[in-house]
Amino acid sequence: MAATTPVRTHDQPPTTTHAPAPAPTGREEALLATGARRLLGNYRQAPFVLARGEGCRVWDTEGREYLDLCAGVAVTALGHAHPALVATIAAQAGRLMHVSNYFYNEENVLLADELCAATGFDRAFFCNSGAEANEAMIKLARRFYWSRGEKDRYRIIAFHNSFHGRTIATIALTGTPAYREGFGPPAAGVTHVPFGDEAAVREAMGPDVCAILVEPVQGEGGVTAAPPGFLRALRTMCDEAGALLLLDEIQTGMGRTGTLLGCEHEGVKGDAASLAKGLAGGFPIGAMVCSERLAGALPPGTHGSTFGGNALASAAARTVLATLRSEDLIEGARRKGEHLGRKLAALAAKHPALCEGERGVGLLRGLVLRKDVVDPRVALGKARDEGVLLTIAGGRVLRFTPPLVVTEAELDEGVRRLDLALAHLAAG
Ligand SMILES: *Cc1c(COP(=O)(O)O)cnc(C)c1O
Repeated sequence: MAATTPVRTHDQPPTTTHAPAPAPTGREEALLATGARRLLGNYRQAPFVLARGEGCRVWDTEGREYLDLCAGVAVTALGHAHPALVATIAAQAGRLMHVSNYFYNEENVLLADELCAATGFDRAFFCNSGAEANEAMIKLARRFYWSRGEKDRYRIIAFHNSFHGRTIATIALTGTPAYREGFGPPAAGVTHVPFGDEAAVREAMGPDVCAILVEPVQGEGGVTAAPPGFLRALRTMCDEAGALLLLDEIQTGMGRTGTLLGCEHEGVKGDAASLAKGLAGGFPIGAMVCSERLAGALPPGTHGSTFGGNALASAAARTVLATLRSEDLIEGARRKGEHLGRKLAALAAKHPALCEGERGVGLLRGLVLRKDVVDPRVALGKARDEGVLLTIAGGRVLRFTPPLVVTEAELDEGVRRLDLALAHLAAG
């Protein structure tokens, strides 16, 4: 992280009414220095400190404004400080926050019911993050066969460039070897095959395979949608082999792609699915939902979570689910996503030396930079300098995962700012 930060001002579009950033106070510099010294250093963090957000905008400690089109990596689905979510969290914090899973709590029971009804699954388990949701799903799949006497049936087929989390088990499933390097022998029983390659999956199948684990759209891997028919083919192969189809919907779920779950585009149903990211709009939560026939595989004592399903997180998730409906945000993600896709295609066409094109589904989109021509981190920094926050996926994709409440005008503004950034980049 940079120890000092040049003072930047953003090209404000004429429509904004925000005053220019005030003079530096030295506060940012002090915070950056403390962050560099006291945080572990496992992230490459932008050289400013965010302090406040509203809707699709955030402000740093120096008063600089940014258009947030990454939404904490597909997390703040309702934007920042959504009044309904703020009210829910404040009220629930004053009522009941946590009681442990030795007791039911009202919000959690209602969330389980509403989430199952919305996703078409029968049972829900709650935890605090995506990786934990995948851990639960893996344990469920393996123990399901174990409990039926198939003790050696634990192999899982996963895909190259997939991302399933950062724990010791989930890095074994993640299809990028760099994420495993240096962490000792990976958990056994995983086979990786190319994403989208039906023949390779068929070849890898066997009586020891308990499950196929797949993201409907690979998010971290580079915003790559499964080719048409692929998820359906996986469903068929699982049915034929008596294996389970496990969907990692952590990034694609909760309306992000224009349907509640990403798999709905293909009309495919999994045996279980993991959710997190947007589920409670920024409040930490993870969930694993599954079909009734799997429910008995994790009886009391086999799995659990201290914080999982606490009343505060559950209330937040219930409000997100209700708001997705009341503000028609899922259909909106489809419509606004198509709009963004057209804008990014035009932007790529305008900068053919830098960009290859656009891809993605709904409001999970990416601008694909040309390999070995543009350093994506430099492009990301230039975009930031123009006041738009994005993330990098798959090494060379500028990823857009805006709040689902984003307006087309805000998306246009973001693309305009990125256009300026690319123009600066082209100018060197
Ligand atoms: C983010 C993500 C995860 C990991 O979630 P954490 O909350 O960071 O543990 C797993 N799978 C996918 C597809 C993700 O996008």
